[in-house]
Amino acid sequence: MNNNIVYKNVNLKEFTSCKTGGPAKYFIQIDNVDDLINTLDSAKKEGINIFVLGGGSNVLINDNGFEGLVIKIQNKKLKVVPTMDDYFEIAVGAGWNLNNLIMELTQQSISCLEDLYGIPGTVGGSIRGNCGVTNFEIKDVVSKVYNLDWLRFNDYNFEIKTYNQNECGFGYRESIFKRKANIIWETNLVGKKCNETIIKEKIKNIMDKRLKNQPYEFPNSGSTFKNVNLNEFDSNIWNSENLLVVDCEHRQQVPAGWLIDQCGLKGFSINGVKISEKHANFIVNFDNAKSLDTFNLISFIKQKVFEKFGVHLELEIQLIGF
Ligand SMILES: Cc1cc2nc3c(=O)[nH]c(=O)nc-3n(C[C@H](O)[C@H](O)[C@H](O)COP(=O)(O)OP(=O)(O)OC[C@H]3O[C@@H](n4cnc5c(N)ncnc54)[C@H](O)[C@@H]3O)c2cc1C
Repeated sequence: MNNNIVYKNVNLKEFTSCKTGGPAKYFIQIDNVDDLINTLDSAKKEGINIFVLGGGSNVLINDNGFEGLVIKIQNKKLKVVPTMDDYFEIAVGAGWNLNNLIMELTQQSISCLEDLYGIPGTVGGSIRGNCGVTNFEIKDVVSKVYNLDWLRFNDYNFEIKTYNQNECGFGYRESIFKRKANIIWETNLVGKKCNETIIKEKIKNIMDKRLKNQPYEFPNSGSTFKNVNLNEFDSNIWNSENLLVVDCEHRQQVPAGWLIDQCGLKGFSINGVKISEKHANFIVNFDNAKSLDTFNLISFIKQKVFEKFGVHLELEIQLIGF
């Protein structure tokens, strides 16, 4: 597919990690700001809805597709500037795949995002959801985000606004970019000089652990639900259920996967999707599933966890068109 050509009826299944979802009425890949402005301008004039797609690794798109324009962000800018004492400022386009970026920086002996190795998202999608692992979130290395609030966009007042780290409202899988219609275009990250072999060894250990604990052998969208804050549980449940509590970036949480597992649901399936036997927070597409199958399984899991633990699981994945 060429950049900047508007394609019609593009099957979004090919652009999601769970390999489900229907067609986009219009689809474009954009790698420069001028084309982004022109595209938004035209879509606004024509009254066409917009959805911004990154790596498609955290979305569930309706089988009927998206009745509008999907913009896949392809900004692959990379500029590394030494700052002081072995530190670097790294300007990165939102379209970079995290794993490719990590490998590129590793080759330059720069440590930055390697804790996130194995996550198949883009920089833009990862900043929006402040993606992370137990002791690291992308916010830990973000210094600036360049973002376009496209609902406020008009022909005469176009600007990509710069947000410093403390203006991004980062929290557990949260940022202010989730709360509005935003397009993250670029970011500045902080990197540190490090021996290439040491970073590679770290990456290998991380990936070995992921392959052991997560179902990479089947299409999926990562963790389906967010972990639940401990204070959401009633004290009776606290006492009777012997809850597993983890400390995640100073938050006391009960892992969603543990709650689902305690309901005896590992391996439970609806049509072509099932709850992974390796990790109960992953729903895997093992046999040409539809998004509706995942949607129905999500409802079922929520109901079972509520019945047993009295808490409402909140989705980590984004539902599109439901
Ligand atoms: C096997 C596997 C393992 C995973 N492990 C983890 C993990 O350990 N930790 C974790 O946090 N996540 C994990 N994930 C989930 C997912 O990869 C991350 O959430 C990732 O950051 C999503 O990025 P994306 O580019 O794929 O976003 P997409 O799925 O494309 O989009 C997600 C949301 O972000 C929006 N978005 C995308 N790009 C932009 C942009 N440039 N500007 C504004 N909005 C945008 C979309 O509109 C959508 O609402 C995993 C997923 C898989 C499949």
